[in-house]
Amino acid sequence: MSTEVEYIIVGSGLAGICFAEQLRRKNTSFLVISDESQCASEVAGGLYNPLILKRFTLAYNAAEQLDYAMPFYEELATFLKVEIDHKIPTLRILNTPAEQNTWYEARDKRGYERFMKDSFESNSNEGIQAPHQLAEVLETGKLDTSLLRSAYKAYLKNQGQLLEQRFDYGKLQLRSKVQYNAIQAKHIVFSEGYGLKQNPYFNYLPLNGTKGELLLIHCPGLGETRVIKSGVFMIPVGDDFYRVGATYKWKDKTSIPTEESKQELIEKLKKFLKVPFEVVGHVAGVRPTVTDRKPLLGTHPSYPNCHVFNGMGSRGVMIGPLASKQLISHIEDKKPLPEEISIDRFRQLWSPQDHS
Ligand SMILES: Cc1cc2nc3c(=O)[nH]c(=O)nc-3n(C[C@H](O)[C@H](O)[C@H](O)COP(=O)(O)OP(=O)(O)OC[C@H]3O[C@@H](n4cnc5c(N)ncnc54)[C@H](O)[C@@H]3O)c2cc1C
Repeated sequence: MSTEVEYIIVGSGLAGICFAEQLRRKNTSFLVISDESQCASEVAGGLYNPLILKRFTLAYNAAEQLDYAMPFYEELATFLKVEIDHKIPTLRILNTPAEQNTWYEARDKRGYERFMKDSFESNSNEGIQAPHQLAEVLETGKLDTSLLRSAYKAYLKNQGQLLEQRFDYGKLQLRSKVQYNAIQAKHIVFSEGYGLKQNPYFNYLPLNGTKGELLLIHCPGLGETRVIKSGVFMIPVGDDFYRVGATYKWKDKTSIPTEESKQELIEKLKKFLKVPFEVVGHVAGVRPTVTDRKPLLGTHPSYPNCHVFNGMGSRGVMIGPLASKQLISHIEDKKPLPEEISIDRFRQLWSPQDHS
């Protein structure tokens, strides 16, 4: 039996879900095709935090992304009837008096005041070592990306809008319409995360992928309710369980947890966590990172009905909602994408002989 929809979306990670949700809100028909070959959104820490905590610089377009993302997720949570957004303060351990100065210097810059608290906090948790106080980033929290995925996929399945299978690029025909097996569509949007590497239409794009690993620890009696950041993030998930991460590895592109990364995380954690803990879980995934650290959005140079939504890197939670809106306005209303996120910036890497 043949099916006709406006859009086919490949991938059901944060990117695919954000795009699908935009279509649902516009009453536009779509079908999602996805397997579980990539799992960045499944294992992600889910933090949203506008400030890069190494040098106290604001992330690209952070204010605009947050302003759009927060109501977007709120509406999604109401629609799915799940609690996915947990507003949790994030505290950066300051290691030296010089870091305290750097914090205040950064806070003086235009646009920074909104996200950086103007006073430091003395440490009140005996299990944590922070002799030079802690600085609070404002408007931070944690999105339960795994719960969002399972709830959204259950909704799609119920609606008959999810095909849980591997997308076979060989079966795709791009003419005036998109044809994939018995499915016909006006557009196809690829959002396969690091799986884009297998996509013959878009694998010319410089997606390099960065593996990340996270531990789940149990630390009875610690009682910390805020996200603590030093060499690693420690994220409370309730009942004295905490997620600890993440690592950044550029060579290994598998989603298999390694002993080496586990030891690296434990070592970094022990620098500020001074009470015993037990490691009870360990996950890994590949972040879809791009050489210039910006998303990859746009339309294929040869096929006007074939689009890409990728490159969320290590900040998919903040980037996904606004970027999905920008891509849909680009496709539907011909609105130009901002240059810095449009795949047009990599046009010189594409050759019609290789990728037509
Ligand atoms: C350890 C770790 C911690 C992280 N922590 C955070 C964090 O705290 N905050 C934050 O904002 N971000 C974080 N990230 C990054 C975040 O996970 C990503 O930015 C985001 O999830 C990417 O979403 P995506 O949909 O592009 O890719 P993915 O989540 O990888 O989803 C891609 C989907 O496409 C499917 N797919 C791929 N190829 C095919 C195919 N051929 N056929 C069918 N389906 C296919 C995959 O199976 C998958 O379902 C973290 C990542 C990792 C690995």
